Amino acid sequence: MEKIYSDSQIGDVVFRKRKGSRRISIRVHPVKGVSVTIPYMVPYMAAEAFFRLKRDWVLETMARQKEKYKDVAPADPQEVESLRRQAKKVLPVRLAELAGRYGFTYNRVAIKHNSSNWGSCSAKNNINLNLNIVRLPEVLQDYILLHELCHLRHRNHGREFHRLLEQLLADNIKEYVAEGDALAEEFLSRSSSSKSCNPLGRLMSGALSGYRML
Ligand SMILES: [Zn+2]
Repeated sequence: MEKIYSDSQIGDVVFRKRKGSRRISIRVHPVKGVSVTIPYMVPYMAAEAFFRLKRDWVLETMARQKEKYKDVAPADPQEVESLRRQAKKVLPVRLAELAGRYGFTYNRVAIKHNSSNWGSCSAKNNINLNLNIVRLPEVLQDYILLHELCHLRHRNHGREFHRLLEQLLADNIKEYVAEGDALAEEFLSRSSSSKSCNPLGRLMSGALSGYRML
């Protein structure tokens, strides 16, 4: 025997009567959802009252599980499609802008969905950009685009590559700092006290590793 209650925040809660159970118990499952087991003789109303007392605990447990399982949760196809639309609208335009400003020419740009790289540049000068880029702060979006553009001149991650990229990053960040972009300001101030020869590149690539892809 069971009854389903709908909670505005929790969703459906299944109340099940079980012979042999001696007390009311609440279970929060990351996939199956929330269920309440009730001893056979306890009325549903009493179990519901008990559940209301424990509602905050249920919400906290759900939030903890969501945090814990977010890495393994499959990407929501609708969310991915909306990202793809946004990426197709924004990224090719921005790439063309940056290429024009810094004198690069590429062949084609494509928007891809994968979890292995933010972008890539082929031997045929085609640039692939991950649709997850649009979830990043703009200054980091540019970092990826500039990184791929630099590969048009340097096919590796050698010294010359990093020198060129650093030059472009240092120029490009000025635009963001002028707009009062807090993240750009932080990168700039941290880079000025760094001894590295490519401080912006290092800081930005470090920041990027903190972001997850869908
Ligand atoms: Zn690269």
